[in-house]
Amino acid sequence: MGKINVLDKHVAELIAAGEVVERPSSVIKELVENAVDAGATVLTVEIKNGGTTFMRVTDNGCGIAREDVPVAFLRHATSKVKVQDDLENIATLGFRGEALASIAAVAHVELLTRTADELAGTHYVIFGGEEECCEDAGCAQGTTFVVRDLFYNTPARMKFLKKDVTEANAVAAVMDRLALSHPEVSVRFIRDGKETLHTPGDGKLKSAIYAVFGKEFTAGLMPVEYAYNGVEVSGFVSKPANARPNRSMQHFFLNGRYVKSRTAMVALEEAFKGSLMVGKMPACVLHLRMAYGSVDVNVHPAKIEVRFSNERPIFDAVYHGVKTALNQWDSPHVMKLER
Ligand code: ADP
Ligand code: MG
Repeated sequence: MGKINVLDKHVAELIAAGEVVERPSSVIKELVENAVDAGATVLTVEIKNGGTTFMRVTDNGCGIAREDVPVAFLRHATSKVKVQDDLENIATLGFRGEALASIAAVAHVELLTRTADELAGTHYVIFGGEEECCEDAGCAQGTTFVVRDLFYNTPARMKFLKKDVTEANAVAAVMDRLALSHPEVSVRFIRDGKETLHTPGDGKLKSAIYAVFGKEFTAGLMPVEYAYNGVEVSGFVSKPANARPNRSMQHFFLNGRYVKSRTAMVALEEAFKGSLMVGKMPACVLHLRMAYGSVDVNVHPAKIEVRFSNERPIFDAVYHGVKTALNQWDSPHVMKLER
């Protein structure tokens, strides 16, 4: 008899879930991305104990129709991709159809949802990957997910969790990035009963930056607006006098997604060369937009790196965009009052 087994469904699910769900912040990232994909304009996230015992995500998006609810929790089940060609033009944040299946494999999940055409909403409970309840429920249009007792059935994973405050901080970072990447969504974050973030959702990046980073940081910014070689760059960079001691305030977003890009970072710093005191780093909140087809987002779900088929246009657009902003700032024609 051979030595190789095909893993049973339950074990296979737990392994697959481990790829997507590393800690509470990965659950929140997946759930808020689903809310944005669902067209939500108001989004509230509440956590307790760093998210380990309780996470609730409420949105006013399109909701999930009753017949789709159990399907949404199946692996590789998604409303966002149908055929192979769709993978070349991903306009949504999600597309793998793995998040809900993964979360449901390692936590207790409760869902309340209603679409615009349904009279009754759906209350659904799934535990250990098995449906526990699916019934009518009165609720507003949109979706609420409650996730309890993360990793109750995977003690090895549970052991790797850090202190609650560290996990909560990781969730807060996800919320900040969400708020900055989608200023058109009013984002609220409540941590152990205390509201720590609330953006107006007025569509203005500056309002989101103000809500996330406060008055002083916002006052030290100047605008960037540039298009070059198929790449649009918009947002804000720090005025030279408001540079920082490190890179922690450099935030890049690509097509509405928080990304890490070495190319963009180098371009930003090159553009600032000669304008900064030694040891200072520019800060930025920059949105890059380019054709969906030129970006390969099909990398690891939990990673924030993206691949560009060609890095050069990214470098050029960021460099020239920031340079132009700096030159305008230095120019005597700019009203002094603005400085
Ligand atoms: P993906 O986002 O990759 O499609 P998920 O497992 O995250 O996969 O979600 C599965 C499906 O469930 C989504 O494609 C979507 O149709 C539905 N869904 C999940 N969350 C929401 C939500 N908040 N509002 C509306 N639909 C949702
Ligand atoms: Mg998703």
